[in-house]
Amino acid sequence: MIGVLVLNASYEPLHIVDYRRAVSLLVGNKVEIVEPGNGKVIASATHRIAVPSVIKLRRYVNVPQRGAVWSRHAVLVRDHFTCVFCGEKMTSAIATIDHVVPQWKCKAMGKPANTWTNTVAACRKCQSRKGGHDMHVVGMRFHDPNYEPRRPRTRYLVVTSQLAPEWKKYIEI
Ligand SMILES: [Zn+2]
Repeated sequence: MIGVLVLNASYEPLHIVDYRRAVSLLVGNKVEIVEPGNGKVIASATHRIAVPSVIKLRRYVNVPQRGAVWSRHAVLVRDHFTCVFCGEKMTSAIATIDHVVPQWKCKAMGKPANTWTNTVAACRKCQSRKGGHDMHVVGMRFHDPNYEPRRPRTRYLVVTSQLAPEWKKYIEI
């Protein structure tokens, strides 16, 4: 199968379609060509169309966020099993998560504590140093000053065919 990479109107990768589907989108004027293909042409009674490599939707589609369900493990994966406070690499057996805004405070405010933005990977030492406090109260800061706990990118492209080199500028690998 020749796969064609489909981008949203914003150039965000959406999925990979079979070349026949890509051609029918082109014929239907739903997409425009971003990167030409490598010469394969398909012919019907009325059309001769070069199969493109990358196409882009003419109209932006809103893609609902899916996946990225919060879990302790998912937070550790997001933070690469590295303590965000001291930068120490941890094994999954000893890694813990810390609540940026302490759980008791979240509870008092009526806010959920286990959210992507409120939880970070932390080693036990840093976690116990922070205790039930806000980090600035105990003079702690993130090891990487640019770090900010976020919901991870939830969109994954599953590429089963060979990755065409011209796709690389559109896909984070
Ligand atoms: Zn630590």
